[in-house]
Amino acid sequence: MRLVLLGPPGAGKGTQAEKLAERYGIAQLSTGDMLRAAVAAGTPVGLKAKDIMARGELVPDPVVIAIIADRIKEPDCAKGFILDGFPRTVAQAEALERLLAQRGLKLDAVVEIRVDEGVLLRRIETRIGQMQARGEAVRADDNPDSLKQRLVAYRAQTAPLIDYYSKKGSLRTVDGMPPIEEVTEAIFRVLEKPARAKARSRSVQGRKKASLKMPRKRARKAAKKAKKKARARRAVKRSRKAVAVKRRAAKLGKARKTGRKPAKRPARRG
Ligand code: AMP
Repeated sequence: MRLVLLGPPGAGKGTQAEKLAERYGIAQLSTGDMLRAAVAAGTPVGLKAKDIMARGELVPDPVVIAIIADRIKEPDCAKGFILDGFPRTVAQAEALERLLAQRGLKLDAVVEIRVDEGVLLRRIETRIGQMQARGEAVRADDNPDSLKQRLVAYRAQTAPLIDYYSKKGSLRTVDGMPPIEEVTEAIFRVLEKPARAKARSRSVQGRKKASLKMPRKRARKAAKKAKKKARARRAVKRSRKAVAVKRRAAKLGKARKTGRKPAKRPARRG
């Protein structure tokens, strides 16, 4: 299974990606985590990304595309993966499609976690508190200024992907506002929906077939009825003719007896 999780910063993509990876036994690929690791290790990519990330801006497409291109070739991605934080631009989405197509693969679904922007700052404050409580270093971009910039980047560069994947028919949207477990359940449900939708469409097709049979059945009945009516009409005509013939014969017989000419049948009008 190959999935993408879409949503603004603080929507809970990381948390949900972890649960999905566990449930489906697939790899969780977070470009944010990979970039942070590169920054911490001081690699050339890390050095390039460090300040951009701290400002809350997007790292250039070629950098992240190259990271993902290498990562999806790893053996732990053979069964599938969940992308959390990638793609973030239409160019990245197109590159991902090409990378997958080269391997004869494609995405199974894109899940958008929709949240009210008003809660994002509060969620990130909670995350900072939790990280501090665990004694972990707080992310350089988890502060109000960077969050603002990350939201700007999301709206301008990432949100267009909702339309992009919606047009492709792969978008599934879940409400990200309820508690974590409920969101997880909602995601599982939308991911299992295609199978259910298929089953439903099969039963609808079955019903359609049955309903198609109905008019034919009715038509056959109607044709039978019409034939019966026509036969009855013909029988009535025949019997009327027979009566007329009998009457005429009777008149002829009477005329012969009396020696008078039989009365002429009035000429038919029309
Ligand atoms: P995240 O952990 O997903 O919130 O990402 C943290 C930061 O890493 C982002 O604000 C960006 O600066 C950078 N980043 C992560 N993924 C991408 C991506 N796909 N494209 C560009 N920049 C990214």
